[in-house]
Amino acid sequence: MTRTVYVNGEYLPENEAKVSIFDRAFLMADGVYEVTSVLDGKLIDFDGHSKRLERSLNELDMPKPEAFDELLDIHRELVKINEIQDGMVYLQVTRGAPDDRDFVFPDPETCKPTVVLFTQNKPGLADSPVAKTGIKVISIEDVRWGRRDIKTVQLLYPSMGKMMAKKAGADDAWLVEDGFVTEGTSNNAYYIKGNKIVTRALSKDILHGITRAAVLRFAREAQMEVEERNFTIEEAQDADEAFITSASTFVMPVVEIDGKPVGDGTPGTRAARLREIYLDESRKAAI
Ligand code: PLP
Repeated sequence: MTRTVYVNGEYLPENEAKVSIFDRAFLMADGVYEVTSVLDGKLIDFDGHSKRLERSLNELDMPKPEAFDELLDIHRELVKINEIQDGMVYLQVTRGAPDDRDFVFPDPETCKPTVVLFTQNKPGLADSPVAKTGIKVISIEDVRWGRRDIKTVQLLYPSMGKMMAKKAGADDAWLVEDGFVTEGTSNNAYYIKGNKIVTRALSKDILHGITRAAVLRFAREAQMEVEERNFTIEEAQDADEAFITSASTFVMPVVEIDGKPVGDGTPGTRAARLREIYLDESRKAAI
């Protein structure tokens, strides 16, 4: 089925949608994005994604697109047109397409942001069989730039990290800087020891995950202790459980780190419970 996508105010068949070769995101990765999950035809955590988008735009002095206040309607329209029950909506805003390639930012008066949205259909997204078996991760050096709190489309290294994991027979990679885990290639990273969840504190070193914020809130409500601090790969390997969070994987157990089983090498009960709570509560609050 040909998807209907949104480009700069128009709903078009995907094969008719076009963006200029001078677009700043194409030439300079000068763009930001968000991925919002859809469950039962409704958007999960839309408000959080919208607020983070606004923050990313501000941090990069990128003009807010005129369609900013219509983004919820556009998301809903695409979900409806494309008949998405379970899946994702991808949104990208770029600094726009000036007349020529130039390092200097274009004049925001004449160069308007490019706004693109498309849906991804993922039937049974919340019932992924992988959540029952867990994933294996390897550790790799974190060589990304210093503003990982901004959700930019510079995804080459995360993409390379996933390929390194694949080559090593694993599912994903955790990034390590100065001996401490920052986050996963496209997710936040955690371990559980006893009743305590440990995850890196928010800073410019990691993306401020929307799923992270919700899961830590639910964990505290469930009387679990949360410690936001630096941790090492060895600590996580010695933990009872480990997991990742992201908008598209929710809470996903990690059962092996650099070839070593975490706990008994199967998904732990606490991560499974957090996944259940997150999915239940998010479904209730979905719009
Ligand atoms: N960290 C990185 C580097 C990511 O790319 C992502 C999501 O794409 C996350 C964390 C998780 O963020 P969220 O829960 O908002 O999807």
